[in-house]
Amino acid sequence: MFITGGVLSSVGKGIVTASLGLLLKSRGYNVGAVKIDPYINVDAGTMNPFAHGEVFVTEDGGETDLDLGHYERFLNQNLSKEHNITAGKVYLSVIEKERKGEYLGQTVQVIPHVTDEIKDRLRSLAGETGVDILIVEIGGTVGDIEGLPFLEAIRQMKMEEGDGNTVFIHVALAPVLSTTGEQKTKPVQHSVQELRRIGIQPDIVVVRTSRPLEPEARRKIALHSTLPVDMVISNHDVDTIYRVPLVLEEQGFSSKVLARLRLEERSADLDGWVKFVEALDRASAPIRIAMIGKYTKLRDSYISIVEALKHAGAKLGLRPSLIWVESTDIEHGMVDLDSIVDEADAAIILPGFGRRGTEGKIEAIRLFREARKPLLGICFGMQLTVVEYARNVLGLDGANSTELDPNTRHPVIDLLPSQRNIDRLGGSMRLGASPIHLKPGTLAYSLYSRPVIHERHRHRYEVNEKYRPMLEDAGLIVSGESPEGLVEIIELDRREHPFLLGTQPHPEYKSRPLSPSPVFLGLLEAASQRVKLAH
Ligand code: GLN
Repeated sequence: MFITGGVLSSVGKGIVTASLGLLLKSRGYNVGAVKIDPYINVDAGTMNPFAHGEVFVTEDGGETDLDLGHYERFLNQNLSKEHNITAGKVYLSVIEKERKGEYLGQTVQVIPHVTDEIKDRLRSLAGETGVDILIVEIGGTVGDIEGLPFLEAIRQMKMEEGDGNTVFIHVALAPVLSTTGEQKTKPVQHSVQELRRIGIQPDIVVVRTSRPLEPEARRKIALHSTLPVDMVISNHDVDTIYRVPLVLEEQGFSSKVLARLRLEERSADLDGWVKFVEALDRASAPIRIAMIGKYTKLRDSYISIVEALKHAGAKLGLRPSLIWVESTDIEHGMVDLDSIVDEADAAIILPGFGRRGTEGKIEAIRLFREARKPLLGICFGMQLTVVEYARNVLGLDGANSTELDPNTRHPVIDLLPSQRNIDRLGGSMRLGASPIHLKPGTLAYSLYSRPVIHERHRHRYEVNEKYRPMLEDAGLIVSGESPEGLVEIIELDRREHPFLLGTQPHPEYKSRPLSPSPVFLGLLEAASQRVKLAH
């Protein structure tokens, strides 16, 4: 099943793909979802979150497009790094094969060599994972130059896979004009034409629009797309992305897809999902979370964290209301941190890289720690929580991470030994899930209620083991460690502070609508306790 997009990017293909995955899975089909990204980066790990949003990390350590996060959350299943195919990966392997002599004597070209590589990857992924249906989302917009080899590959697959084995879904935008309030279909018509120009006739058109698709608009789009009217689906704005599968289901979307694929229609079991969406609706008690980071101008930079808060909120009947705090603004005196500490029920110190904004984050950590308000530090946020503790509780003046100050007198955070001899920056961090042993009797243990957990990593720096005894003597508890003894989770005694937790891994990546991350549940619970006490 191929999903293409038209008119503009961010049109919501990822959510359509994820929703369709959920709908088919709820009918007992074994489904996989792949994101194709036409950029030349081999993976998303080397891209600035400002440009592309969060880097999602898979269980096996892939640094992938954030759409994989949506897929995992909607499908409620782990995907491997092979589920994100980039032009970079494809070209790299074609060029490597050429150097090995695998194409000896041939002129290596986009067609057939690059397109064959793309098709091979899709087919072997479907084979290896044993799925009934593989959903393939082609990133970017139809008409982009770099997307052409991928569209050509899927065009060929339609012929090669035989009738009834492929379905093409095109997602495009019908803007509503603010001046006249009219729903305009021309952009959709043109993007379908663009798709046809390269040989792909969509089977279904999904129209993104701010309000339900009007009958006249639907009729026009169907006419220009050479489709029956019922093959045009309205994907109008709703209050939460988690309602999208239900909107699509109401219009019989998955039955239409199954009919095209000549697969049997089965009844869907969406009970759990519907209950989750109802719980999201009902969750009304506001809980204010200060989100402190340096990529706050693009909210997608922290999308898994935002979603994890929603999952936990739905379970607890709380509605997280986020106060975004740009850490560089703190440094420039542009935010009144005291009033933020007053206003917020809890804070999250967000992941990140590099020096900019870090002093602002450290100051925020101090204030939240001293005010005894729930604080969660994730990855970089955990490292800075340790720096703050070293400076202000241990009195280690100028303590820092060597990432931020290579000559610091007190390198409480330092490069992981395994990172010392790295010469390539792509895909070389400590990545993916690995076991973490929790210390009985700690906050971390009480959250997870088990001795060993697996969370996903993405970092190069760690708590410096030389400082660990000093930090522990001063009251910082190491409640989680890796089998090799790396510090994974830190916390304060609950008699000292109701909830101060720092996690080197990113628990947000594994939070799912129906199984929220224990860490986010714990944070929200602690925050709501404080709210109750205050009343
Ligand atoms: N910059 C830090 C490191 O590399 C933290 C990374 C992160 O927050 N993901 O260790």
